[in-house]
Amino acid sequence: VYATPIKTNSPKQINSGGIVTIHDVTNLKKLEQIRTEFVSNVTHELKTPLTSIRGFIETLKSGAIEDKNVAVKFLDIIDIEAERLSILINDILQLSEIESRQRDSDIACHNIKDIVKEVLDMLQGVSAKKGVKLDVEVEEDIKVNANRNRIKQMLINLIDNAIKYNFENGTVEIRVYKKEAKIFFIVKDNGIGIDDQHIPRIFERFYRVDKGRSRNMGGTGLGLSIVKHIVNSYNGNINITSKPGKGTEFIIQLPA
Ligand code: ADP
Repeated sequence: VYATPIKTNSPKQINSGGIVTIHDVTNLKKLEQIRTEFVSNVTHELKTPLTSIRGFIETLKSGAIEDKNVAVKFLDIIDIEAERLSILINDILQLSEIESRQRDSDIACHNIKDIVKEVLDMLQGVSAKKGVKLDVEVEEDIKVNANRNRIKQMLINLIDNAIKYNFENGTVEIRVYKKEAKIFFIVKDNGIGIDDQHIPRIFERFYRVDKGRSRNMGGTGLGLSIVKHIVNSYNGNINITSKPGKGTEFIIQLPA
C-alpha cells in the first residue's frame, strides 16, 4: 500500500489529502513461486542423471575400464542416463514452446485418422514388447484445425502412459469421435490406476505418483503437464477417472 500526498500549487491546500494505491501482488507472488519451484525442479532433474554419468566415468577412469564386461555395463548405464537427459531437455523445451505459443503459426487442417496412425506406428514397438493390445476406433473424416505436432504429442503422451502404467498383456482403448461440434479423444487403460489423492496433482510439472517407477520407465514427470498445456491452448478440456488396480481413462474435448 502506497500513500501518496497530493502535490498542489495552491498554498492553501498543502498536504490536504492523499491517494492510496493498493497493488494486489498475490498472483505475482504465486507466479514467482511457481517459477522458482520449476527452476529448482529442473536443476534437480538435470543433476540426477549428470551425477550418475560422472560417477560412472570416474569409476571407469580409476580402473573399472580394465574389465571389459564391467566397462560395457557402465557404458550402457551412461548411455541410458544420457538418453534420459536428452528426453528431459526435449520435454522442457516443448513445455516452454507451448507456453510461449511460438509454433502456433503452423496451424493447418489435418485428418485425425492420419495423425492417430502415425502415433500408433511410433508406439507399436513399445506396446508389443509388453504384450499390451491397442484397441483403436477412430471415426472417419474428422478434421482438426491445429498444429499437427501438438496433437500428435498430446496423443503420444497419453497412449505412452497407458502402455507404461499398464500390466503385461493389458489393453489400451483409443477412441476418437465427433459430437456436437466437439472432438472427443478417449484413452483408456486397464493398468495400475491412480489413487484419488494423487489425481488433483498429476498435471503438475514433475509430479509423479511413484518417482522410482516413472524414472525406470524413462518418465520425466512432464508428459501430462505438456498434454494439459496443449489442450488449454486449443480451449479444450481434459478429464480423468481412475481406480487403483483397475485402470485409468482420459477424456479430452477439443472444439471441432
Ligand atoms: P511421467 O513421465 O512420470 O509418466 P506424466 O506427467 O506423464 O509423467 O504423468 C505423471 C504421473 O501420473 C506419472 O508419473 C504416473 O504416476 C501417473 N500416470 C500418468 N498416466 C497414468 C496412467 N495411464 N495410469 C496410471 N498412472 C498414470
